[in-house]
Amino acid sequence: MAGETTSTPFYSELLIDGELVAGAGLPEAIINPATGETLTLVREASTPQVETAILAAHRAFSSWSRTTPAQRSAVLLAIADAIEQRAELLARLEALNCGKPLHLARQDDLSATVDVFRFFAGAVRCQQGQLAGEYLPGYTSMVRRDPIGVVASIAPWNYPLMMAAWKIAPALAAGNTLVFKPSEHTPLSILALAPALAELLPRGVINIICGGGEGVGSHLVSHPKVRMVSLTGDIVTGQKVLQAVAKTLKRTHLELGGKAPVIVCNDADLDAVVQGVRNYGYYNAGQDCTAACRIYAQAGIHDRLVSELGDAVASLRFARKNDADNELGPLISARQRDRVASFVERALGQPHIERVTGAAAHSGPGFFYQPTLLAGCKQSDEIVQREVFGPVVTVTRFDELAQAVDWANDSEYGLASSVWTQNLDKAMQVAARLQYGCTWINSHFMLVSEMPHGGLKRSGYGKDLSSDSLQDYSVVRHIMARHGQPLV
Ligand code: NAD
Repeated sequence: MAGETTSTPFYSELLIDGELVAGAGLPEAIINPATGETLTLVREASTPQVETAILAAHRAFSSWSRTTPAQRSAVLLAIADAIEQRAELLARLEALNCGKPLHLARQDDLSATVDVFRFFAGAVRCQQGQLAGEYLPGYTSMVRRDPIGVVASIAPWNYPLMMAAWKIAPALAAGNTLVFKPSEHTPLSILALAPALAELLPRGVINIICGGGEGVGSHLVSHPKVRMVSLTGDIVTGQKVLQAVAKTLKRTHLELGGKAPVIVCNDADLDAVVQGVRNYGYYNAGQDCTAACRIYAQAGIHDRLVSELGDAVASLRFARKNDADNELGPLISARQRDRVASFVERALGQPHIERVTGAAAHSGPGFFYQPTLLAGCKQSDEIVQREVFGPVVTVTRFDELAQAVDWANDSEYGLASSVWTQNLDKAMQVAARLQYGCTWINSHFMLVSEMPHGGLKRSGYGKDLSSDSLQDYSVVRHIMARHGQPLV
């Protein structure tokens, strides 16, 4: 998408209390990571604007929370249609702002975003729960699910529009009002959708404000009128949010980092593993919390896997002039690229780690880093233990499967994992023992709106997607009615 900026309009107005307004805070340069060029400037929300947005959401809650599921469903379907009508513009903005190939933004990000709104439009109309009944003689009990109040939703930069959908759709469906803050690096797609949201939703139900984490973000999460904070981001950010909300005891929904283990058994279909890791270890330049980045390969398949995967990774196409040829884009910023480079440098400083392919920043413009495969890694190595969030995959050899499962679980992360074997019994036993929110068998990375996505341990808690997410954005309540005189 380099050089295509002139034909794509940029939107920079925030949505506060039903009005599209310019931010009154500091200007933030929005960069195209594929070229390093500034696309536009977006002004942050000022402190009074953050306050206005929260109070607007607070006021709107009393009526929005009393709408029926059918009414909210209709609005979500209309939002999905609005996204579809603007799909080309939104895909272009996503591609420019993240540097990702346009064809992938169109095909993956946009279709998944639309589907999330349509899923929650249906899910909110068919929720299930415990049966009402007389659990104490003379009393009828029933359970309700009610919205929580104003939700502060804070998103990362890797899939800006899709992450917005994961947060906005279930929160609105459940009857909450929102103040949504995109990453300061990637506000363009949600700002382009803001005019449609202003038309489709009553005043104040959704507010979109821009700004950095330490200023706008921390003001937002600390505000006493905000009843829940939903964050997708770094573990350290999750810790800061928890400290900030402790005073007011807000509910939190945290989706933090990941370091997905990929257990490859001797009897795995080697071609499928190579194709799978080539696709899903490097998708979005590895800036994905579920990326297939930590391979444990059994001794009998290890050498062939390293050799074939090395060739496959070296064939990944990026930074080409013709955007349609590209399979992955750059890192989001020079800082992120340098962070990835320093991880790899430290890893290669270890005598036992072998560079199979990649391991250098790309020499042209933009923040590209070569797709990298490192072999000979040990369980205790930093590169095996810490999230790199870049196009870097490691391979560690194992002999016994029990050892691989122990190593896979020996991690502070617990988001996603996979096991590759043609023996389903083995796969099921491994899947049962892995301490991860998701385990794929002979696959990796696939998400569907109907199934929950979320982690264990320091990957956070709270589920995105699925009816579990609706539960996270609502509170269960018990209503108990005492009977009058017995009928007979
Ligand atoms: P980040 O934590 O730096 O930023 C995420 C958001 O938090 C941004 O909007 C930022 O402005 C805001 N923020 C930062 N400090 C804050 C504070 N003190 N108070 C309130 N808000 C604050 O993360 P990132 O660099 O944008 O994204 C990368 C991270 O996100 C990675 O660790 C990745 O694994 C994680 N991630 C997780 C998932 C998941 O589903 N688990 C999905 C995508 C990304």
